[in-house]
Amino acid sequence: MDKILIVDDSPVQANFLSSILSPDYEVTVVHTAEEGLGQAKAVEYSLILLDVIMPGMDGFQLLKMLQEEVILRHTPVILITSLNDIQNEERGLTLGAVDYITKPFHPAIVRARVHTHINLYKYRTQIEREATVDQLTGVPNRRRYDEVSVQRWQDAIRLGVPFSVCMFDIDKFKVYNDTFGHPAGDKVIKAVAETASSMLRRGTDFFARYGGEEFVALILGGGSENDFAHLCRVHQAVEELHIAHNPEVSPWVTISIGGISVLPKAESSFDTYLKMADAMLYDAKRFGRNQVVWTNERMEQRREK
Ligand code: GH3
Ligand code: MG
Ligand code: MG
Repeated sequence: MDKILIVDDSPVQANFLSSILSPDYEVTVVHTAEEGLGQAKAVEYSLILLDVIMPGMDGFQLLKMLQEEVILRHTPVILITSLNDIQNEERGLTLGAVDYITKPFHPAIVRARVHTHINLYKYRTQIEREATVDQLTGVPNRRRYDEVSVQRWQDAIRLGVPFSVCMFDIDKFKVYNDTFGHPAGDKVIKAVAETASSMLRRGTDFFARYGGEEFVALILGGGSENDFAHLCRVHQAVEELHIAHNPEVSPWVTISIGGISVLPKAESSFDTYLKMADAMLYDAKRFGRNQVVWTNERMEQRREK
């Protein structure tokens, strides 16, 4: 059942609204904007019904705060108010409300509008999900990586924690395709993605398909020692899938990984470190593939086969 949050200081109004919607939705009622904000941050609602005139923070202020929170920006908000003049309606819609209902309202109209906006919201989230997930592997795609990398980099600077970026590339994959065919190659890409993503699923980890047979991982807060050791385990886990490669190349399918851990500063640029991770990957290939090559801001390089 979709969840709806009602924020209205009048218990009578709030309960009436709730009784209209509870047969079809899971409804939560709060009576202040402050509680509304806390609730919206804690639970994923499909829609928020917001009263405008409330003591303390009013509905317009709460709407503005919801729009400023990245994760809440897309949750539809319907203002439901006794302010029935054009100026306030315009203000509410300009602030980002998807609809404006004036009191007294008709239950059937409220239900219909709520229903429409929840359907639009669900459709939109589904489309957004599909646009950010790689079809073949089910892991985040390059487009999602572009968004997340910027956010994580800024998080690391703000929190003052180490940040690691690493590039993965399947070894001699052209030969694999030429030997076993493209559909078999697709299965390998999928298996590598599943293995690596299952080992990088903490909230502070991010793993994506960068393109073709290349992947990228971002790790927040781990530090050079931990992250290098962990990526060595990922590297090993892929080899231990024991997917037969062309024997002239190697017994099993393997990957090369290049990575860097740094303590990012406000003035440092993410692109510089991504390029360094790429240079480490290049070294891993140059030194004979099937290995992890790692560095840090002092350019102290480490390798493990
Ligand atoms: P290296 O060890 O230097 O990385 O050699 P490589 O052969 O893996 O590198 P190269 O860049 O020459 O070839 C990458 C191959 O990956 C060629 C391309 O056909 C294959 N590839 C890229 N995307 C896909 C895909 O989605 N499915 C399959 N099956 N193959 C793909
Ligand atoms: Mg490649
Ligand atoms: Mg390759």
